[in-house]
Amino acid sequence: MSIVRTFLLLAASVAAWSQSTQDELRYSPERMRMAVELRTRTQTLHFVEAGWNIALIVLILRLRVASRIRARGVVVIAAILAIIAVAALPLDLYRHSLALRYGLSIQGWGSWLWDWIKGNALGAAVAIPLLAAGFALARRVRNWWIWVWAGTVAVMAAVTFLVPIAVDPMFNHFRPLSERHADLIPKLEQVSARAGLHIPPERMFEMEASEKSRAVNAYLTGFGSSKRIVLWDTTMATLTPQQIQTVFAHEAGHYVLQHVPKGLALASIALLFLIYALYRVLGRDAGNPASLPKALLFLALVGFLSEPAVNGYSRWQEHQADIFELEAMNGLAPDEGQNSAQVDLIMADTNLEHPRPNPLVVSWLYDHPPSAKRMRFALHYIPAGRLIKF
Ligand SMILES: [Zn+2]
Repeated sequence: MSIVRTFLLLAASVAAWSQSTQDELRYSPERMRMAVELRTRTQTLHFVEAGWNIALIVLILRLRVASRIRARGVVVIAAILAIIAVAALPLDLYRHSLALRYGLSIQGWGSWLWDWIKGNALGAAVAIPLLAAGFALARRVRNWWIWVWAGTVAVMAAVTFLVPIAVDPMFNHFRPLSERHADLIPKLEQVSARAGLHIPPERMFEMEASEKSRAVNAYLTGFGSSKRIVLWDTTMATLTPQQIQTVFAHEAGHYVLQHVPKGLALASIALLFLIYALYRVLGRDAGNPASLPKALLFLALVGFLSEPAVNGYSRWQEHQADIFELEAMNGLAPDEGQNSAQVDLIMADTNLEHPRPNPLVVSWLYDHPPSAKRMRFALHYIPAGRLIKF
């Protein structure tokens, strides 16, 4: 009986909560204060970072840094990229200090700095040869933009394929989910069966996030044979098996709805326009590595201004995965809406999400719909009884 009573109490409290606060999440007052403080700071930081990056490139252009470097192509490219990365370090340090201060991260400074070095070295290892090849092509071929576009798309697909296999293990430890959570596999297979798909256990991984973080998360990554669903170990420590099923159902939605290949396809189309525009902007200078700052300024501006569109698309995919989750959990949880809303609340609280995000900030920065909105949707959604294919 006590289980029934607990459930009814929980249901009543969620229902009361959802009616009393249409537009905000309710954590403890202390958590609310922390969430508002932290998110105000990280959101401001995002815009400061963008402004800082653009201002720095403008300065590099004004001071003609690229033509003052007495060296040849690849060195000029490496030097410009190094200046930009090092100039971003103070803001990167501040971002990590916030994550530490508010308890989202428990990663020590030594480990963090090592990750920062690895991340930048990896970025440079990909970017420098690519840029050098791009400039070499621009010197030799008239319509270089078509070839640069084709090369960029190929590299993007290769990177998406390789990240889970070669890059992610450089930053975190992964193990097959079945190693420590074999009992979860049949429960997750139940979800797969409801969803009418087969996700083999070899495609399910556990990430040791708890070494560095207190946040709760799960994600889909990879492409083709590297495609996989990853659950953070913090998720297993925080959520009940039924709630983990819900998280898995959401990720299964991304998996079934082919969100990674669709994202890649869309990015390829956007890149076609972007690289053609770059071709027009650079004109005759295109073959000279000293024009790199001009190209970077163009990319930084377009990148910043396209954030609302990119994040809007991401929020739409997340909403599709939420619908998939509710349909897949229909019949597996006593009330799939309440269940999803509970998971949203726990994750928002653990990750200190802003309880009342500004709608403008949401449209510019949020890659997921705000949790309050996702909870409202889950609580009012009536399952169609079939899985929706988009
Ligand atoms: Zn998602």
